[in-house]
Amino acid sequence: MILKGFEDLSKFLEKPRNIVIIGHRNPDGDAMGSTLGLQHYLSKKGHNPTVVVPNEYPNFLHWLPGSENTYRFDWQNSQSQRAIKASEIIFLLDFNALHRVGHDMQKTLENYANDFAMIDHHQQPDDVKYMYSDVEICSTCQMVYQFIELNNDLDLIDKDIATCLYTGIMTDTGSFRFRSTSSKTHRIIADLIDKGADNAKIHNNVYDANSYGRLLLLGQALSNLQILPEYKTAFITLTEQEKKKFNFEKGDTEGVVNYALSLKGIIFAAIFIEDTDQNIIKISFRSKGTFSVNKFSRNHFNGGGHDNAAGGKFLGKMEDVITHFKELLPNYINELNSSYED
Ligand code: 5GP
Ligand code: MN
Repeated sequence: MILKGFEDLSKFLEKPRNIVIIGHRNPDGDAMGSTLGLQHYLSKKGHNPTVVVPNEYPNFLHWLPGSENTYRFDWQNSQSQRAIKASEIIFLLDFNALHRVGHDMQKTLENYANDFAMIDHHQQPDDVKYMYSDVEICSTCQMVYQFIELNNDLDLIDKDIATCLYTGIMTDTGSFRFRSTSSKTHRIIADLIDKGADNAKIHNNVYDANSYGRLLLLGQALSNLQILPEYKTAFITLTEQEKKKFNFEKGDTEGVVNYALSLKGIIFAAIFIEDTDQNIIKISFRSKGTFSVNKFSRNHFNGGGHDNAAGGKFLGKMEDVITHFKELLPNYINELNSSYED
């Protein structure tokens, strides 16, 4: 755990400040929940916080309280730039390195004159002035709760804050099932329900908001699944053509990789998704036990994340990434076979 400059930050926040809060590109539930949750909290403390979202986020997160007041950096660029210029500090939430916001926004942040405060649970964080980093914590939303707790402000948590934080803890823990889910996580979740988070409604809004096309795309993904039993590995591919066929929308592939990991005996799963806009194959990796997909992705696919959930990318064609992936596996056969005790 790293807690750096906390007292200076508290002092800095004694006066009302113009603040910008940013999550990572391709925001997930934790990025949106933590940025909006922190925004509601900082507003209550008398500040003027603005959330700037790098790009589009899934429809199943649009209902989050406060999401209607965010700026989108890609298509509300001048408003976003103005808010950044006017800000006295920028909070970086749910990411560890400036390149995770995307190329254009990274350039803007690199020229930023004031300081950054990072709250994040990814490995190998960049060094910024104020930092709260803990790779043991399941979600940035739990860290925002603990940040509020460090400030002795738990009584300020209202229904909106509780709803936002509940959502990100739920999505980053796979609904409280991943190894990172601790007894403290459950205690915090209980408190968030007491403070107004409507748990059944949140689960419904996030998980039961599928379009018919999304289910058909899932069907396609499952029929593309391949299993490599000798490596306890399974992977899924989705081409641009398949995405188009089922009217792909942002967020439609979220969680699909977990179906590969749900196979009995599989401890390493990947999904390879063609993205012709960016000319890349976007990859998600998941694992069970000690096999670190963070290391695997850092070493071979220009990415990173956590030990059991990471992402990466490949410049090239689908067949080439699959060949490359399969060629790498023999180097990991021992790690893969000893990763998880049944
Ligand atoms: P997902 O597979 O759901 O996109 O991401 C899994 C985890 O890895 C998330 O914590 C996400 O922030 C991180 N991640 C995804 N893609 C990348 C990437 O390209 N680089 C790095 N460093 N982390 C990533
Ligand atoms: Mn997260």
